[in-house]
Amino acid sequence: MSIVKVKDKTFRTFIPEAEIQQRVKAVADKLNEDLKDKNPLFLAVLNGSFVFAADLMRMITIPCEISFVKLASYQGTVSSGKIKEVIGINEDLKGRTVVIVEDIIDTGFTMKRMLEQLGTRDPESLHICTLLVKPGKLQVPLNIEYAAMEIPNDFIVGYGLDYDQQGRNLRDIYTIVE
Ligand code: 5GP
Repeated sequence: MSIVKVKDKTFRTFIPEAEIQQRVKAVADKLNEDLKDKNPLFLAVLNGSFVFAADLMRMITIPCEISFVKLASYQGTVSSGKIKEVIGINEDLKGRTVVIVEDIIDTGFTMKRMLEQLGTRDPESLHICTLLVKPGKLQVPLNIEYAAMEIPNDFIVGYGLDYDQQGRNLRDIYTIVE
């Protein structure tokens, strides 16, 4: 086990690189099987999913496309506060098999919002693929078909995920030390 400092917080190794690779491969195998005749369009959500998406895509062996989207937060006029809008979609999603590639699903609100927005573009189907999910935090029902790993509620960094923009470059996944 190794300890790293990211800004003012201390983290310890939680999921080593080799295990991450095994789990990503298992998800890729399932996608290769399930979507083999679908020419899926993978939409990876920046910034957090960039490492996962790069590893996953190189394990996908069926015809496919990848593109990248971002979530823009702005203060809404409604009482719910911050609204997240998906930006950067340049592809026509009509009739496509779309796979959203996320880093982590926590409460699930972000994913729910994305499904709603992408759904208006008339895709044939929308699938959720995430590196990590925290089942203990989930607050909305989601059909998470492709999750590489389930983890406890603690805050994690590394393998693309940040703490205040730092730590994305760490090769393993680290959990916060209280
Ligand atoms: P949700 O809307 O599901 O609550 O939040 C999802 C987003 O919260 C993720 O895309 C990610 O940006 C952030 N997030 C949730 N949990 C963690 C965590 O443990 N570590 C990091 N780095 N980000 C997290």
